[in-house]
Amino acid sequence: MSRLNDMLQEIGGIGRNEDGSITRLGASEGYFQALEQVKMRMEALGMKAEQDPVGNLHGILPGTDPEAKSIVLGSHLDTVIKGGVFDGMLGVTGALEVVYRLKEQGRALKHPLEIWGFNLEESSPLGGTFGSRCVAGMVDAEAPGYAERLAKYGMKPENVRAAKKDLDKYGCYLEYHIEQGDKLDSAGLDIGVVSGIVSVVRYEVTAHGISNHAGTTMMPSRKDALVGMSKLIVGADARARELDDTLVFTVGKLSVAPGQENVIPNEVVATFEMRHMDKAVTDQFYADIQAMAKEISNCEFTFVNTVAKYSTPCDPALIDTIDHVCTRLNISHIIMPSGAGHDANPMAHEGVPIGMVFVPSVKGISHHGDEWTDPKHIDLGADVLYETVLALDKTDL
Ligand SMILES: [Zn+2]
Repeated sequence: MSRLNDMLQEIGGIGRNEDGSITRLGASEGYFQALEQVKMRMEALGMKAEQDPVGNLHGILPGTDPEAKSIVLGSHLDTVIKGGVFDGMLGVTGALEVVYRLKEQGRALKHPLEIWGFNLEESSPLGGTFGSRCVAGMVDAEAPGYAERLAKYGMKPENVRAAKKDLDKYGCYLEYHIEQGDKLDSAGLDIGVVSGIVSVVRYEVTAHGISNHAGTTMMPSRKDALVGMSKLIVGADARARELDDTLVFTVGKLSVAPGQENVIPNEVVATFEMRHMDKAVTDQFYADIQAMAKEISNCEFTFVNTVAKYSTPCDPALIDTIDHVCTRLNISHIIMPSGAGHDANPMAHEGVPIGMVFVPSVKGISHHGDEWTDPKHIDLGADVLYETVLALDKTDL
């Protein structure tokens, strides 16, 4: 196996469970072990490395022009419970591989090259992409109850404030990541050049009916909230398929009240989640769902918007650069949106141009012990990342 694949299996293997999956939650003992491993390698490569007040790792390789903005390569060091080796760790070890190659080839970059390994990217009581949101200054540590939640991770609001960076000094942020979907694998393509990260919009939808005796209430006189909700879900699912190929719709949570086997349900609450690159499409879809709800008799619906994270486009010039690198290296690739959120989001939110490189996830499996990417693809992605860094170094960013 290549150096990168070895490094990925070694550091990414920290937190391995008996079934082969990986549990390396943010801020855990395993997390800091992995962080130390990466830090040691950074230092061995002549980088200055330090842990910030919220447990992110930052390494810097100085450039020849002290005025030049930094090129940042980053991803996260944590996993979900029973996750895989690749999610997150690929971006950090892939970035180390870039520095190994620079050293081997005796190349010095004009721009400083930084590697950021983030803490607590996966969902936690602190909210997902915690480490990168702290760096971007997007975490409100004063929010009610937040100090108590931070304390569970050994942190204080001061830590959050102290982790914020002045992002004007950074010319771009590149993240090398597994796709976590099956688009590349099923199409037999080697690389995905990410166009942007899709928006996530969620509603809490409640169906209101009337509870009554399950034995004495004849079918025509029922106002069954669960039947109404079921019709709406099936209708929305069909509409999503019709509206756009890349629109996804999920009901992941449902609660039924009063929840007794001999009582007709009077209230059903469901989460409606929709994801797409284009706000116009999710807006249209939501309007269609509302219209459908009005047509469902015997039931009334209310909608509360709970999440509205709108899409984050990647930087057009970075997309172009990565696209050209793939073409030059003769690597099959497509330009595609990311259905999952990443540490790149907060960077883009604070004005840093972002670019992302995807490699195929076999069968689209991720957040699971069976997560796998062919070692050949791991190395191809590193080739793309390396050549992209060299190309960007020739520009002013
Ligand atoms: Zn990830």
